[in-house]
Amino acid sequence: AIGVAGDRRLMATIGEALAAAQSQIDRQDAQYLLAGLTGSSRAFLLAHGERDLSGQQAAQFAKHVAARATGVPVAQILGRREFYGRDFVVNAHVLIPRPETEILVEQALALVSGNKCLKTHDPPCVLDLGCGSGAIAVTLALELPDAKVTALDQSLDALRIAQQNARTLGASVSFIKSDWYRALTGRKFDLIVANPPYIAAHDPHLSQGDLRFEPPQALTDNSADGLDAIRTIVTGARAHLHDGGWLMFEHGFDQAERCRALLAQHGFAAIASVPDLAGIPRVTMGQHLPTPAV
Ligand code: GLN
Repeated sequence: AIGVAGDRRLMATIGEALAAAQSQIDRQDAQYLLAGLTGSSRAFLLAHGERDLSGQQAAQFAKHVAARATGVPVAQILGRREFYGRDFVVNAHVLIPRPETEILVEQALALVSGNKCLKTHDPPCVLDLGCGSGAIAVTLALELPDAKVTALDQSLDALRIAQQNARTLGASVSFIKSDWYRALTGRKFDLIVANPPYIAAHDPHLSQGDLRFEPPQALTDNSADGLDAIRTIVTGARAHLHDGGWLMFEHGFDQAERCRALLAQHGFAAIASVPDLAGIPRVTMGQHLPTPAV
């Protein structure tokens, strides 16, 4: 890059900028921030440490590093996070999409593509409860072009971001402002998915690290066991599922057993939990089968 004379003082090579950043923040975070800022890959940055940044890039990078040093998540600084191979816009109003949530997407795709929902309704109707940034709903809509995807959230700020992501990525999703099922009078789906808040009220993680900067209502349901939102979702699901439809949701690392019990208690069949990349059961699902005639 060519710096004008006045910028000279601010100019640095990629290697110098990364070295300076690493004295303040995590090494990989520094690489992600500079990659995001310059539009290069981390591999490129590491291979071309001798190249100059422009004065403007160096100054902007210094600002981003300072923000990260105060704890602001990398995704919020860059305003985006990759999920299932696509870039999603994020801000402080939405949960930052997590890699483990891609497991839920994979499982949902397998159910629909594998015709595991009883095929009474074509095209399949999918509902995402508490869509946040729209990462799940938009991904499902793009991966399942035949499906009719509906996504709801109680936060208008979140819905704005989700809608923006759907538009930018070319996904057709119907958005509804709703507190869980409340605004859905009578509508039924073949698949209901959710990544609900499941952190317990007094979990110390809520006041640590990146979680401090995310919307609390996306992280915790303020209940003692973190299962209130999941109880609401499971309890209401049967009224909103077609026969043969599935409910599938993400939960905390130690909640799988209680989630399966809850599904069993509400008459779900084929109940199963699926582990995340760390081997922790992270997604649990069950199928709504018609009640046999007595
Ligand atoms: N998995 C997230 C975390 O522990 C929580 C996301 C959620 O509550 N849905 O950081």
